[in-house]
Amino acid sequence: MNKPIRIALLGLGTVGSGVYKLIHRRAQEMPQIAGAPIEISHILVRNTAKERPGVDSSLLTDNWADIVNDPEVSIVVELMGGMEPAHTYISEALKAGKNVVTANKDLIAMHGGDLLDLAAEHQCDLQFEASVAGAIPIIRPLKQCLAGNEISEIMGIVNGTTNYILTRMTQDNMEFADALAMATELGYAEADPTADIEGYDAGRKVAIMASIAFHSRVTFDDVYTEGITKIQSTDIRYARELGKAIKLLGVACNTEEGIEVRVHPMLIPASHPLATVNDAFNAVFVHGDALDDAMFMGRGAGELPTASAVMGDIIDTARNLLMGCTGRIGCTCYKNVPVKSIDDIRSKYYIRLNVENRMGVLAGVSGVLGNNGVSISQVLQKQAAGDSAELVVITDTVRERHIRDALLILENMSMVHEVSSVIRVY
Ligand code: NAP
Repeated sequence: MNKPIRIALLGLGTVGSGVYKLIHRRAQEMPQIAGAPIEISHILVRNTAKERPGVDSSLLTDNWADIVNDPEVSIVVELMGGMEPAHTYISEALKAGKNVVTANKDLIAMHGGDLLDLAAEHQCDLQFEASVAGAIPIIRPLKQCLAGNEISEIMGIVNGTTNYILTRMTQDNMEFADALAMATELGYAEADPTADIEGYDAGRKVAIMASIAFHSRVTFDDVYTEGITKIQSTDIRYARELGKAIKLLGVACNTEEGIEVRVHPMLIPASHPLATVNDAFNAVFVHGDALDDAMFMGRGAGELPTASAVMGDIIDTARNLLMGCTGRIGCTCYKNVPVKSIDDIRSKYYIRLNVENRMGVLAGVSGVLGNNGVSISQVLQKQAAGDSAELVVITDTVRERHIRDALLILENMSMVHEVSSVIRVY
């Protein structure tokens, strides 16, 4: 039998504990699955004195040097999160010739290119399947199974917290604040939910997927992000009336004028496969020239689902180590495609306005839209309280900058009490 492959876990929180459990659960079969036993030799944590039931405490250390200087450690599994010290530790591990597996989307979305270059320089694997959509295989499919395609579009629900909140708002008619409180109570939302509800977490995942799919480096800074905090149950009701659902989507498109990368809520047809992805589930929809359409769906977070993706990377790296071919699949960004400004994207829009309840208002609103090159595809008009009425306009496909120009004028018209919502329509 091959001698054991020694790995070090950096972090033993939610994901680290899941990996610890899976390694022990699959230990007996690992020589057959990976080609050799996989053994944890160190676990780096902040607090070595903390009670960790079921964990061999002799493996714990708070000293990174124990790991990076141990020649027996061949895979470093970074599950601490955040930028530092994760960035430094991963860089030092690669420089020491150690292979790295990480779930750290924040780091990969900002520094993935540099770290992959470093991995290539030292002929090491740097794998990060768990950094996008938890248990769902998407990095490896994009890099390997779909490598023969020209991918033109990726669209995904890649944040379980916001999908859970929107599902409660849709199915239980809850308002955003109540649905967020429920998500927090159930452990779906963190104490500070900003990264989820403002779309930053999804933005990091879209940056990673776009880089791989379009072979051109996209970082988180390139991604336009808009969260779900302004969505009201009224919008969800109107969407339903229009035969649509509202989802927070990460969208990446490869167009002739450049790459579009954005995260924002969107009205999608109720019949679209993504509209049926509810609760904390994630799904990624991919369009390629040969593949046509495919959708990957599953759990995007959590202890064992995320550990499942990390384990896949560990086993793949172990196999590469045994075959002497680590570093075989490195950075796939060989192009330099510009990223489009959000002002230049084209979309349909849902605009909900609270207006004066009198003759001529609809003509006034449509006049402003028309003067800015925005044509209307559909209008819903509802009586609201007293002298106000609610107007919902669905536009034809227009450039974002034209909608913004029109909204600036509408917001300052006396007949328009409020522009209540603006949501893009698929
Ligand atoms: P977590 O529960 O907060 O655990 C973090 C672990 O890292 C803890 O064990 C902590 O040690 C250790 N740690 C943090 N900073 C450290 C430092 N400076 N030195 C040594 N140890 C340190 O985090 P998590 O939820 O497992 O997430 C880990 C990574 O997976 C993140 O990059 C996250 O984005 C990613 N991810 C998570 C999920 C998920 O469902 N949670 C899903 C996909 C991806 P102590 O135990 O001593 O505090």
